[in-house]
Amino acid sequence: MDIVDLVNGKTTSFMLFGRPVFHSFSPVLQNTIAKALNVNTIYTAVNVDNLEAAVKGAYAMRIKGINVTVPYKEEVMPLLCGIDKKAEAIGAVNTLKYTENGYYGYNTDIIGLTMSLKLQGIDIKGKTVVVLGAGGAARAAVTMALTEGAAKTYIVNRTRKNAEAIRDNVLKYYDGEVYVCGYSQLDDIEGELIIIQTTSVGMGEGVYESPIKDNKIFERTAALVDIIYNPMETKIMADAWIYGVPTANGLDMLIYQGIASFEIWTGFKIDDKTKLKIRDRLRLYYEREKK
Ligand code: NAP
Repeated sequence: MDIVDLVNGKTTSFMLFGRPVFHSFSPVLQNTIAKALNVNTIYTAVNVDNLEAAVKGAYAMRIKGINVTVPYKEEVMPLLCGIDKKAEAIGAVNTLKYTENGYYGYNTDIIGLTMSLKLQGIDIKGKTVVVLGAGGAARAAVTMALTEGAAKTYIVNRTRKNAEAIRDNVLKYYDGEVYVCGYSQLDDIEGELIIIQTTSVGMGEGVYESPIKDNKIFERTAALVDIIYNPMETKIMADAWIYGVPTANGLDMLIYQGIASFEIWTGFKIDDKTKLKIRDRLRLYYEREKK
């Protein structure tokens, strides 16, 4: 079908604010969701120079839903009329919903990550979760570990103070046992582990690298999720797989955070079967594009 048949005066616009946005998968993701549900919405990515002006302008235009990405996920927070508790604990917002009082902020990365684990049959309740990295994505992973009932959460990072900052912030919002350590102390963490890899090691220039150098840890790893999705299999995933560890990449997290944003904006409750259909369509698209 042609775009002329799809977009008309009743079309609802959703947007992505970031800089740069040209590489973003979100327009394909969101427009695929709209097509699957046969709703009259369109999603475009906008390269934003002035975030405050962009948010005010969008509100004046009654744009019902906005995603915010790098570098604006924190900067957007003071511009909102309210923020969801999980997003506060994470310290970043990626989804804005239009309300009568202004935009209300959510973080759907945490929903995407939670769903990604569920799809793999990984239940972290009562388990020991090891989060590798202490950047933006790690904050969502640590918050998820606490909200999903992990017994103990370890943040393992190169720069200790970044890990401590995450621990200190999340404990203001949720109770739990959160510890900080370096890679050389990984061996001291006891018991069976669920590892969530959130560093940027394994992509770009570090594509042949893993943040873990001693693979013995995989002998007692129950599951590993690497939130990187390009490449689809990272070095750490391949290393863990040799030890028989079930692994998953970050594509489901990416897809399900988008589905969650769409649900927040529209109020739709998309059933699980339709979500899986959307996911399969997007996975196919992504795999073809990456060839
Ligand atoms: P970020 O804020 O820049 O954080 C990067 C983290 O990687 C930091 O903790 C950094 O440690 C660590 N790191 C970098 N180089 C390292 C090295 N050589 N050895 C050990 N640690 C190293 O990045 P982010 O926003 O959290 O994103 C991280 C990754 O997640 C990216 O690959 C991104 O594409 C992916 N991601 C995926 C999704 C999804 O939906 N699947 C969502 C968000 C992000 P220091 O603190 O010591 O600097």
